[in-house]
Amino acid sequence: MKSRPMMMAAPKRVYVDLDDVICDTGIDLLALLEQHFGRHVDLEDVTSWDLGVSLGLDQQELRQFMHYAHEPKVLQQHRSRPGAVEQLSRWSDVGVEVWIVTGRPTQTFAATRSWLQDRKVAHTRLIFADKYGNYGGLQEMTDGVEAMPMEQIAGLGFDLAVEDSAAVAGVLHDELEIPVALMDQPWNRQMEDAGRLRRCMTWEEVDQMCGDLFSGQMEP
Ligand SMILES: [Mg+2]
Repeated sequence: MKSRPMMMAAPKRVYVDLDDVICDTGIDLLALLEQHFGRHVDLEDVTSWDLGVSLGLDQQELRQFMHYAHEPKVLQQHRSRPGAVEQLSRWSDVGVEVWIVTGRPTQTFAATRSWLQDRKVAHTRLIFADKYGNYGGLQEMTDGVEAMPMEQIAGLGFDLAVEDSAAVAGVLHDELEIPVALMDQPWNRQMEDAGRLRRCMTWEEVDQMCGDLFSGQMEP
């Protein structure tokens, strides 16, 4: 029988980003780009978080593009990333609270929730956070869904965050002092490991990082 090593200690509450962490979003956006703008870009060439830069879109095109990207039928298509759903189930099984913290606009709430339900993604809560300052400090409400300001994340007691945005990972690690598993993506490669921020190539490596972090092998 093949057995997995038991996690010696586990986090109590984890922050898990959705796009390009639980689901593959980037690859679907590139297909949309080709479909609507007739432009081909390889995922490996998306080296800037700024999609205007990476995809060569002006402001008006980018607005239109993001509108397409947030349509329910597009969101519904995203595939889960290898090992993601399994790891969240394992965490839930041992009593870890999984809080999915997304930077999507709040109007995607219904489509996001049904995606998670359809795939039986184990989670305790789904939070919409103003990760990119889109709401200018205001708690934008859409259909009763609030965008949480990032400062509020600090008070939620997360033991670990799993993110792919380098900018957000920097805020979580440096300002909010939360250990971060940075999910490797072409747009975050300039970010180096530091303190309790570690690049993870796979969900298996996130699990390994947890083992190191909670058995005291990662220095604060
Ligand atoms: Mg993301």
